[in-house]
Amino acid sequence: MTRPSSQLTLTDAQKRRLSLPGIFVGVTLCFGMILYGWFFAQTESARLLNIFSGFFGVIYTIVFFYFLLPGSRPGRIDEWLFVLANGIIVGWVYYIEPVSLPNMTLLLLYTLLLMVAVVTNRVATYAFIGFALISIALLPRWMGETSRTIQWTFPVMVILIGIATNEIVVTLKRNVLTQINRLETVNHMTRNLASSIETSNLVDIMSFAIQTAFQADTYYVGFLEGSIVKLDLFYDEGRFYDGLEVELKDSLTGWVVQHRQPLLLRNVPQDLSRIGLRTSLIGSPKISLSWMGVPVYSSDNFFGIVAVASYTQNAFNRNDLELLENFARQSATALDNARHHEEAVERSRLDSLTNTLNHGSFIQSLQDSLRQAHEEGWPVSLIMLDIDYFKKYNDTYGHLIGDQVLIGLTGAIREHIKNTDLVGRWGGEEFVIALLHSNGAQAVRVAQRIRLTLQELHLLDRNDEIIPPPTISQGIAVFPQDCDQAYPMIDLADQRLYIAKARGRDQIEPTQDIWDSPAAD
Ligand code: GH3
Ligand code: MG
Ligand code: MG
Repeated sequence: MTRPSSQLTLTDAQKRRLSLPGIFVGVTLCFGMILYGWFFAQTESARLLNIFSGFFGVIYTIVFFYFLLPGSRPGRIDEWLFVLANGIIVGWVYYIEPVSLPNMTLLLLYTLLLMVAVVTNRVATYAFIGFALISIALLPRWMGETSRTIQWTFPVMVILIGIATNEIVVTLKRNVLTQINRLETVNHMTRNLASSIETSNLVDIMSFAIQTAFQADTYYVGFLEGSIVKLDLFYDEGRFYDGLEVELKDSLTGWVVQHRQPLLLRNVPQDLSRIGLRTSLIGSPKISLSWMGVPVYSSDNFFGIVAVASYTQNAFNRNDLELLENFARQSATALDNARHHEEAVERSRLDSLTNTLNHGSFIQSLQDSLRQAHEEGWPVSLIMLDIDYFKKYNDTYGHLIGDQVLIGLTGAIREHIKNTDLVGRWGGEEFVIALLHSNGAQAVRVAQRIRLTLQELHLLDRNDEIIPPPTISQGIAVFPQDCDQAYPMIDLADQRLYIAKARGRDQIEPTQDIWDSPAAD
């Protein structure tokens, strides 16, 4: 799974692009100084000061643009040095500002203020305003110039402009970066969802997208199973919880699932009474104050819910809800694909007429079960079963009736085995049954019951006359008494099946008395 790269900070390329207008004004100002010094300065010292300052300014701008800007990171020492240097530059320009160009300092200060606000953060920008005002107040004095006085309105104006600019830039930056981050998250989610067809992977991808896109303390993805929602993933304040379930009745989750509608609560305790629900706790014993949940469904399937919560009020708005709906829609499509894939895999393991395991998957499953039985020390019994004189039966009553017998026989088998037991179609009218945790005596009892149940199969011919069901012969082999590998076990059961056939059909080999003898266990 690939992950989005952006955090809520600007990249170096973005910083450079955003600082370009400031760089342009700065360089223009520097050339202005050089030209002024060269052609218009009244004294030799003013001439040198302006040329030197303009020249230094150009070099500083180049160094800043190519070296300082890419390296600077919020809160690091170089950022503070950069802010301090810019403050001193403002003081210096104020010191050399010609009387005939009185607004040069203000222009520079405002340009730098914008640039600092864009590329650094709120605190650093206020620090810059402070450094600039201190430099303006002290630098000319240190340089021996005492005649100039500053009107009190000047710092007040600078501070007010500074607050307005800084706060606007901070808000714009946060909004823009949040949108960029969300777009990137949606992009990555789309790409990752498209490349995965396993439900557990899809839930991980959803989890990561939610974590990245929302300021959430809690979130979960739940799948509807009957009257409960099983939470496949539940995250609360840094912890993941396993195996949680939510009742549909009287829960926010239930409301979203039953109404198939998104729900946004900005103030949970107040809004809950509005929709007539009580607060309930899942995860940590703290009540969420903001909550939003969205149903996850496609045109083919209803899956469940994805929900996000926060311990602060008004944590989410309409945009957040829309984004969560977007996640849910994309996830539903991916979950659909995963479900189709799982169904196709399952179908490929089954025989299409009787829905029992096909030859290959039965052997595979039997081998797995025997391995487990070996490790954990429990018995497995194998019944090989064949319909007697089925060819004649087909010839007499037709193949369609024969097919009904095969379906009826698998129904009779299923009536007497556990869900965890295995039943497979070995070929034609021959079936294999693996009874897990069952010994030979138990297997004979199951075989007897199947035999009797098949005799109760109710079949009618084209004239609605009752057709007698065929009989079956069965051979049994047992792990660990008889053999401990799948193929020899199947082979032995097959040989015993033919003993039953040879003995006259409609019977089981070995017979019950073998298992009743003390030597059998
Ligand atoms: P035996 O008692 O020795 O087992 O005799 P039998 O006639 O059952 O054995 P045989 O192997 O000669 O015939 C098996 C028959 O099973 C042949 C075929 O007509 C029938 N059969 C196999 N698969 C299907 C099926 O999918 N549907 C139907 N209707 N018949 C099938
Ligand atoms: Mg047969
Ligand atoms: Mg046969």
